[in-house]
Amino acid sequence: MSLGYCLLPMTTATGPPSTMAEKEDELTPMLSQYLELCEAHEDALVLFQVGDFYEAFCEAAEAVARVCEVTLTQREDSTGTYPMAGIPIDNASSYLERLVDADYRVAIADQVEDAEAATGLVDRAVTRVITPGTVVEEELLASGTTNYVASAVESEQGGFGISAVDVSTGECFVTSVADRAGLSEELDRIAPSELLVAPETPTVTPADASTGWMETEVDPVLFDHEAAVDCLSAYVDPERRLATDAERRACGAVLAYAEYTQGDDGTLDYVSRIRRYEQQDHLRLDAAALRSLELFENRGLGAGDTLFDVIDKSASALGRRCLTRWLRRPLVERRAIETRLDAVDALVEASVERTELQDGLADAYDLERLVGRISRGRAHARDLRSLQATLSVVPDLIETLDGIDALAPYRERLDPLEAVADLIEGAIVDEPPTELTEGGVIKPSFDADLDELRTTEREGRQWVAELEAAERERTGIDSLSVGHNQVHGYYIEVTNPNLDRVPDDYTRRQTLKNSERFYTPELKERENEIFGAAERADSLEYELFCEVRTEVAAETERIQALATAIAELDAACSLATVAAEGDYIRPEFHDGSADSGGINIEGGRHPVVETTQDSFVPNDADLSQGEVAIITGPNMSGKSTYMRQVALTCLLAQIGSFVPAEAAELPVLDRIFTRVGASDDIAGGQSTFMREMSELTEILHDASEDSLVLLDEVGRGTSTADGLAIAQATTEFIHDELGATTLFATHYHGLTELADKREGVVNRHFAATREGDEVTFLHRVAPGASSASYGIEVARMAGVPETVVDRARSVVESADGSQAESGPTGSQPTANADQTPTDKPADSQSETNRDGSETTTDTPSEQTSAVDNDRPSYPEEELDVGAEAADDRASYPEEEFFGGTVDPAVDDPLDEESMVRVAVALRSVDVASMTPLEALNTLDELRSELRE
Ligand code: ADP
Ligand code: MG
Repeated sequence: MSLGYCLLPMTTATGPPSTMAEKEDELTPMLSQYLELCEAHEDALVLFQVGDFYEAFCEAAEAVARVCEVTLTQREDSTGTYPMAGIPIDNASSYLERLVDADYRVAIADQVEDAEAATGLVDRAVTRVITPGTVVEEELLASGTTNYVASAVESEQGGFGISAVDVSTGECFVTSVADRAGLSEELDRIAPSELLVAPETPTVTPADASTGWMETEVDPVLFDHEAAVDCLSAYVDPERRLATDAERRACGAVLAYAEYTQGDDGTLDYVSRIRRYEQQDHLRLDAAALRSLELFENRGLGAGDTLFDVIDKSASALGRRCLTRWLRRPLVERRAIETRLDAVDALVEASVERTELQDGLADAYDLERLVGRISRGRAHARDLRSLQATLSVVPDLIETLDGIDALAPYRERLDPLEAVADLIEGAIVDEPPTELTEGGVIKPSFDADLDELRTTEREGRQWVAELEAAERERTGIDSLSVGHNQVHGYYIEVTNPNLDRVPDDYTRRQTLKNSERFYTPELKERENEIFGAAERADSLEYELFCEVRTEVAAETERIQALATAIAELDAACSLATVAAEGDYIRPEFHDGSADSGGINIEGGRHPVVETTQDSFVPNDADLSQGEVAIITGPNMSGKSTYMRQVALTCLLAQIGSFVPAEAAELPVLDRIFTRVGASDDIAGGQSTFMREMSELTEILHDASEDSLVLLDEVGRGTSTADGLAIAQATTEFIHDELGATTLFATHYHGLTELADKREGVVNRHFAATREGDEVTFLHRVAPGASSASYGIEVARMAGVPETVVDRARSVVESADGSQAESGPTGSQPTANADQTPTDKPADSQSETNRDGSETTTDTPSEQTSAVDNDRPSYPEEELDVGAEAADDRASYPEEEFFGGTVDPAVDDPLDEESMVRVAVALRSVDVASMTPLEALNTLDELRSELRE
């Protein structure tokens, strides 16, 4: 089908070139054919086959030359001069990849008739439109990945229907979401390469501009109810399989688009199933959680490991893709989770068998993509051999699985498809050529007619081979030779001195300088026989190949089912390998209802950080359901790592994986939310505070008592007073109203006081010690809150001279005092007024009792902790020498803290301005990452600043 027109061609490189369009009637036949194809594919850059090259003209040529770095030439004819650029067809894929990467849709206009046979202009047609979301070319796709084109349609009730298809594998699914937040969550999770939109239709594109997909504007007709249902009917019963009109329109449109890009009119038969799910069928992870938990993408600078990298030990592309799907959509059904865990468990135990299985799986080709090519009629003989090779592994897999009861469900689904395997084995030679039309593809004795033709050919050639000797003997001409060339066929060559001995039955074919070439009636006859037979054999081979391919394609669904079984087996083996090598344990789940238990992890580790760390310190997590843990501690002490490891442990458990811990008893979560404060996030563009708040709002709407919420330094984007107020209000709301289990790492020390006021809010902290000149972070979580003066304490431990430390303290105290007086009382959190000690003994006490161990004190000096306890709480950020103040400064009104800082009552011999400068500089010093020498130098600079 044609998509008709596109309203917004992306660039001038697409659509009909204006210079040609102007003289439409004068163009040479070839260029007017080009122009026509450009008009029919307005949104695409048309590559036009001319012999061994794909050519582009005019603006498109300029784009091709630029993107592919090929020479821009010109084509001249009677109508004018046109820029032209070409890429060699033999080597097209690397150029196509560049064009697709540069966000071009590329329409391939192939010659669809034999150029030699054509009279006049060769017929050309667009055989493929290559777009980022519909790539099927193996060379353009990364191995073991998914690649979706998606669309989303707003329903009249305000929700959205979403659909996506992976054209390379035929995977297709639909879902509905209730609102815009759900839409962007789902699209982020699908991570399509391309999103279809149409003007004046209810198609949608999420507001967030930072998405990684290309938007393709298509003809609105695609989204028409009738058109969509029409297209869908070829696949499923649209009324029964799909729930809403929005789903039907979204799904119909992506399928119609997929068909269009494959250059055929027909249905994509290998899209044999349209899966429908609800968002709550999986553990939901919104975009922020996907990002901040670094499941698939590393947010840090430079490419580091992601959770996926850690758990991916798959042997095949199938396993890898399956694992991707599992990690993207963890389970929420306890039975399903346990079934996967049983399999992983069994494979952990059966290490010998697991190695055997993986050896076999490593020989499995990507059946999902193979079956796509087979079904589209694009598979080569080599693809069929790859299928056969994969099928031949299956009996071994079955045998290995035989003794392992827990894996019986896998074994039963491994279908050896013997008939298909035998068919290919009997039909296709072991190492077929890439060309399908030049013979050498079909094995002898597969087809009697073919055998006969090949025998005729072979006997003919044999006769010719023997002809030379026979004719030498008959004529007595020793130098007589028999040869062959393309133009004249077979000939007998006799040199000039021997021409008088040429027999009568020789007919002259060609005269050369020193010789003459002849043929005989019999040679002529044999020649016709040989070439006739060869030609017919070649085309018969092609026919037979296509028959075999069609016959195999008829088994698409069974091959797909096998692919799924192999994929899941490989994924389970991968998880088992990770568990065995990484010392993971099988998690336990609480039974049933929400309030039956929280998160209990003993000796938990961060699955990714532990692989990058020489020695990782394991930590316990003990959160009853609905509990809120406020986590304090200096920068770099391990707060963020700890919170994420708790979330990742739950997430891994729900994909059916073992977890990095000594013991884990977990709930089945419905959602994981994470919010990372502005200073920790690489937020682009908009006000980071606004963004933080709007993301926070989502949690406040959606979290349930089965959710896990991670809040990491939320509230940083605004003034301390506001930030603390918001942080506190949020915590209270989550705790009182939502009942979600929550971990909140914060620099707002005031927040720790909530533990005193609310049952179910507890304090945890991370501590540091000093060894010699080195400040060491213990990375160990301990009960109770961190000392409020930690920043200054760390500075002191790092060797900052006492005078400076003391001075910093007095600045803090006066800042605190002045803020308390002048601060915006309206938003001042009540906690501040209480003046309760920040380390609440009661809390610490109960912690100590609970795990029976001594509370680790985070304060290396009794003296400072005593001082802390006497002091009202104050915003720690201000003091935190290790704080990443560079970010803070911009959004942080200095006056608020320093305007009233220099209290006249404080005897201050220093100049106010330089003091502010030093204080600001001090705040931005990252003591933890400094060598002692750097610290000394910095100190020296700061001191000279004060002297000036
Ligand atoms: P915070 O959030 O408190 O600033 P992070 O969680 O970002 O600290 O941790 C800082 C660094 O400390 C991490 O990058 C990691 O290298 C190291 N780290 C964190 N937790 C541990 C741990 N449990 N064991 C060993 N190293 C850790
Ligand atoms: Mg952090």
